[in-house]
Amino acid sequence: MTAPVLDYDEVIERFDPVLGLEVHVELNTNTKMFCGCPTAFGAEPNTQVCPVCLGLPGSLPVLNGKGVESAIRIGLALGCDIAEWCRFARKNYFYPDMPKNFQTSQYDEPIAYNGVLNLELADGSVVEVGIERAHMEEDTGKSLHVGGATGRIHGAAHSLLDYNRAGVPLIEIVTKPITGTGARAPEVARAYVTALRDLLRALDVSDVRMDQGSLRCDANVSLMPRGTTEFGTRTETKNVNSLRSVERAVRYEMTRQAALLTDGGTVLQETRHFDEGTGTTSAGRRKETSEDYRYFPEPDLVPIAPSGEWVDKLRATLPEMPWQRRKRIQEEWQLSDLELRDLVNAGAVELVASTVDAGAAPAEARAWWVNYLAQEANSRGVELGELPITPAQVARVAALVSGGSLTNKLAREVVDGVLAGEGEPDEVVAARGLAVVSDDSALHAAIDEALAAQPDVADKIRGGKVQAAGAIVGAVMKATKGKADAKRVRELILERCT
Ligand SMILES: [Zn+2]
Repeated sequence: MTAPVLDYDEVIERFDPVLGLEVHVELNTNTKMFCGCPTAFGAEPNTQVCPVCLGLPGSLPVLNGKGVESAIRIGLALGCDIAEWCRFARKNYFYPDMPKNFQTSQYDEPIAYNGVLNLELADGSVVEVGIERAHMEEDTGKSLHVGGATGRIHGAAHSLLDYNRAGVPLIEIVTKPITGTGARAPEVARAYVTALRDLLRALDVSDVRMDQGSLRCDANVSLMPRGTTEFGTRTETKNVNSLRSVERAVRYEMTRQAALLTDGGTVLQETRHFDEGTGTTSAGRRKETSEDYRYFPEPDLVPIAPSGEWVDKLRATLPEMPWQRRKRIQEEWQLSDLELRDLVNAGAVELVASTVDAGAAPAEARAWWVNYLAQEANSRGVELGELPITPAQVARVAALVSGGSLTNKLAREVVDGVLAGEGEPDEVVAARGLAVVSDDSALHAAIDEALAAQPDVADKIRGGKVQAAGAIVGAVMKATKGKADAKRVRELILERCT
């Protein structure tokens, strides 16, 4: 059953949306937050567990120092204050994927609070998003519900549990309420998660793979009638796992809530699931309040009191921030504001930068990613970075072109081959026989043949009509199946006819 929705323009005429975004990021530490178990993704179920992360009686947690370090660096990068003293708290709830019966988290004493992240929208305008807090916690295990149609617990015959992820360090980053975005709320939500992902990647604290769940977004959405200031009841759409889905989920929730409110109904405070296939959300569980969790300070872990000296040391490790990097790249590559924006909107800045680092000229790297590959990503419905080609491979193709081994046309075929999983660029060139015919004697043979086939054209060239050579170049290119360098062919034709 699909809920009624209100036309989007009408939503905006009648209501102001309020967003609150909670992003969970899994840190890329080698071991879990409170034990020595490895954190690698994709291992056999329940092979990365121990008494601590299984919550067995008598086991005691030991805090992962690297996890705290990453948390502080994230806080600093977001311009947050770092707590001089804070504690972990037990968040009590029973869920089968949480073997301890509680989650070790932080409650009213987060390690970082009160920051800001600036987002640039597609048209270049900037939105400032306040950061409420960033706190440390641990991930839960994973459940797999078998036998139902939807993969959810309802209708399932049985469920399987994998505790490998239980205890993996998580940082939860929570925004302050985001107001005043109007019709652009869905775009702002997406831009926020994008900016945060870029920042976390620059910090090298996580592999930020939304498709593998190492970056997950919960989108809180509510509406208030235009001209009023009191927030409406919000819903929380959980674990949205792609940038595009974040945008779609927010938009859908706005139209669904608006239809309810316009019809005199009320929005229930609840969690919701986003369905990628239909682009709609469905009700999850009624939202608990913090009282339900009976938070209390974690008695098995000592408080954390990062010294000012340590925090300063960590501050000195912060890398160039994505926005600083963009500014520098714009200057170095001499891009106009519009060119830079195209690059940013295509999600190509880091990819192009890496391609340049791998040896390609900036203009060529840009052309590959923003033109050819962006089209390919678009037609596959994936993000640019998800295409099965690396910056190093693009740089290799560009090098083959600039070295004269490939024409632009052949280079596109090589890229197609890499995308099709045929291996490295050089392997594709060899397997598909794509190298430019650079052997002059082979070209001479083709030229002589073309001249013999079109004697009138040959006479014109010999008579000094240089522009007539185009027809012979065309014939040679055709004979070599486009594998000749047209410029070289032209030179050889003119040599031949003088
Ligand atoms: Zn463990």
